[in-house]
Formats: sequence, structure tokens, C-alpha cells
Amino acid sequence: MNKKLYVISGCSGVGKGTVLKEFMKRNSDNFMLSVSCTTRKPREGEIDGVNYFFLTHEQFEQNIKEGKFLEYAQFAGNYYGTKEKYIKQKFDEGYNIILEIDTQGALQVKAKMPEAVLIFIAPPGVNIENNDISGGLIELENRLRGRHTEDEATIQKRLAQARTELERSKKYDFIVINDSVDRAVKEIEGIVKK
Ligand code: 5GP
Repeated sequence: MNKKLYVISGCSGVGKGTVLKEFMKRNSDNFMLSVSCTTRKPREGEIDGVNYFFLTHEQFEQNIKEGKFLEYAQFAGNYYGTKEKYIKQKFDEGYNIILEIDTQGALQVKAKMPEAVLIFIAPPGVNIENNDISGGLIELENRLRGRHTEDEATIQKRLAQARTELERSKKYDFIVINDSVDRAVKEIEGIVKK
């Protein structure tokens, strides 16, 4: 069977990490979570090569110059990107690959690889069909503050980013509301089994 690329995005604080972790726990035989490169500093407990490949600004820009990224984006003052070679390697190893990336990157992937499936995880309160994201933004702010890992300026940056990402989610193939981790995981399992 042909291996597939799935792109999962969601606003910061939406619980995307928890949903993905649970999805991977249940589906690690067939799926692997791609490890991105970033210039942001590691958070406590994060390991180079496991959570991210942590690069300096200079290293990242050198990779951009050399055309090494399948996609990359600048976000909250840092670069994030996926190496093309890394994805090819993982396909060769026989995995379906999941990219957990922001919406700018996701749309770059879709442009280069139209067969990629884009899934957006939205907070409860968002009513995409009615174009109403306000309830979702309040929910996100509460979650971000509850996490206690970011300062106020970063929280404000991330909320502004969340608004943009929610707008871009309309271009995705699927939108999954994270009202319950178990339900969201099951919905994603339904999507990838199609
Ligand atoms: P965090 O700093 O919280 O780990 O991630 C911040 C944002 O960067 C998240 O929205 C995450 O999806 C996004 N991100 C992580 N890796 C990549 C990547 O390789 N490319 C892009 N475009 N975004 C990424």
C-alpha cells in the first residue's frame, strides 16, 4: 500500500499535542510523527532529535538557502520547518507520516504534494460553518494561561496567530473539534482509514 502524508495543525493551546500523542499510542505500528527543525529554545524535558532538531538561526537560514525544506514558516519569532530528505527517508522505511505543523507550512505541503491530507484540530466553541471563531479564541486563551509556560507577550502573539490559523483552516480537508481527546482521536482514525 502507498504510504501517505498527513498534516495536522491546530492553534497553539488547542490540545493538539495530547490528541496526537494518544493517536500515536494507538497507531504507532503504521504511523510516525515527523520531527521538525526549529530555532526556538528547547522547553524543559525536550530532547534534540526527539521533539525537534534544534538549530541556530544561522543553521536554519543556511538550510533554506540550500533548498532543504519541504516547507518552513516563521512563527512567534522563530523558524520551524520540515526537511524534504527526512520525509523521503521515512517513506522509504515504510511509514505513513504525520506532520504536526502550522497552517502556512501545511498549505506549502499541499501545493507541493496535493495528495497530502490536511486535518485541522479546532477548540470547542469554534463554529467553522457559521464562521464564528470567537468562542474558540476565549477557550484557547484559557488553555494557554493554564499551561503557565509562556509569558504575556508570547500569549498575545499566539492568540493573534490562532485567529489567522482558524481563518486558514477553511482550506483544510478535515476539521476535527477537540471536545474530547478520545472522540477526536477516533475521528482522526476514521479519516486515515478511508
Ligand atoms: P511549539 O513551539 O509549541 O512546539 O510549536 C509552535 C507551532 O509550530 C505549532 O503550531 C506547530 O504546529 C508548529 N510547527 C512545528 N513544527 C513545524 C514545522 O516543521 N513546520 C511548520 N510550518 N510549523 C511547525
